[in-house]
Amino acid sequence: MLKDIRSLSYDELSDEILSLGFPKFRVNQIFSWVHEKCVSSFDEMTNISKDMRVKLAEIFTFDNCKINTKLVSNIDDTVKYLFEFPDGEYVESVVMKYKYGYSICISTQVGCKMGCTFCASAIGGFVRQLSVGEMLTEVYTAQKDLNIKINHMVLMGTGEPLDNYDNVLKMLELITDEKGQNMSMRHISLSTCGVVPKIYDLADKKLGLTLSVSLHAPNNEIRSKSMPINHKYDIDELLKACRYYSDTTNRRISFEYAMIKGFNDSDECAFELAKKLKGILCHVNLIPVNNVRETEYIKSSVERQKKFIDILASRGVTATVRRTLGSDINASCGQLRASKKNK
Ligand code: SAH
Repeated sequence: MLKDIRSLSYDELSDEILSLGFPKFRVNQIFSWVHEKCVSSFDEMTNISKDMRVKLAEIFTFDNCKINTKLVSNIDDTVKYLFEFPDGEYVESVVMKYKYGYSICISTQVGCKMGCTFCASAIGGFVRQLSVGEMLTEVYTAQKDLNIKINHMVLMGTGEPLDNYDNVLKMLELITDEKGQNMSMRHISLSTCGVVPKIYDLADKKLGLTLSVSLHAPNNEIRSKSMPINHKYDIDELLKACRYYSDTTNRRISFEYAMIKGFNDSDECAFELAKKLKGILCHVNLIPVNNVRETEYIKSSVERQKKFIDILASRGVTATVRRTLGSDINASCGQLRASKKNK
């Protein structure tokens, strides 16, 4: 089987190229073609001889994707892609424009095992992991298509990044490599539903990225109703890991809280949440829930959101409502892939 060249770390690529008998400077050239100039074939490597390109193509391949669907928001220029892989699977990515530059939200798995009841990505279950190169190609393909430089990334698309831990870590190593995209770790957020052992592992790596934790409830009773992972690692175990993460890395944790009318948005919930988060270096991101499944989840009212924020603030916990981008193209919820699967 051919190896995906985009999935190799610099050191791995170096070993491979040197063992083929090529000189060291070729490693830098090839790495730069793959990760700086983001090519998707050997033919584009114009400073590499034809013979060498043929040789490389005998051993390596590119895990590329095709743009199946591209939706551009008329409101705010948000672009949503449905990428298609050769095995017929799809993933979604979203590019958003902010004052500070472009940010991409990428998927880390095809489908998801976690089964959160409010989430479109859980529809159809888990299909497979994304390779390192496939995650990178989401960024590289979007960047080339839009002719922009993307300098922020959030791992908040389909999939649980900590359930594809090794590939995600290697992808982070590559996208932050100064010989490639040189993205700053400080500009990367990883979102997890709470795979506790991996939060400890990640903390010990001290990478400097932002950890987002999908909390969505102040107690086990509510959390277990919507997030099956809570049966495995309950809220207290999760928050203990979060404390360890912020203590170890000195980084503020971002807690995601999808506000669902009558489910997790009461004053009592806000008081309980503030109590639970006491002493953790954190920020709460409230997300008005998107109704994406055949569930009866309804967004909390703006007044409710404000009251919730006020209660948290009165107890020393900062919270804001996440800005919605690309609302006309359903930019935030994995529905494009789900609709494709239902056809
Ligand atoms: N598996 C990871 C990352 C993917 S989801 C995680 O669970 O964090 C990205 C974020 O969107 C998570 O906070 C998730 O809980 C949230 N989310 C999923 N469906 C949503 C919906 N219908 N409305 C609002 N937020 C949702």
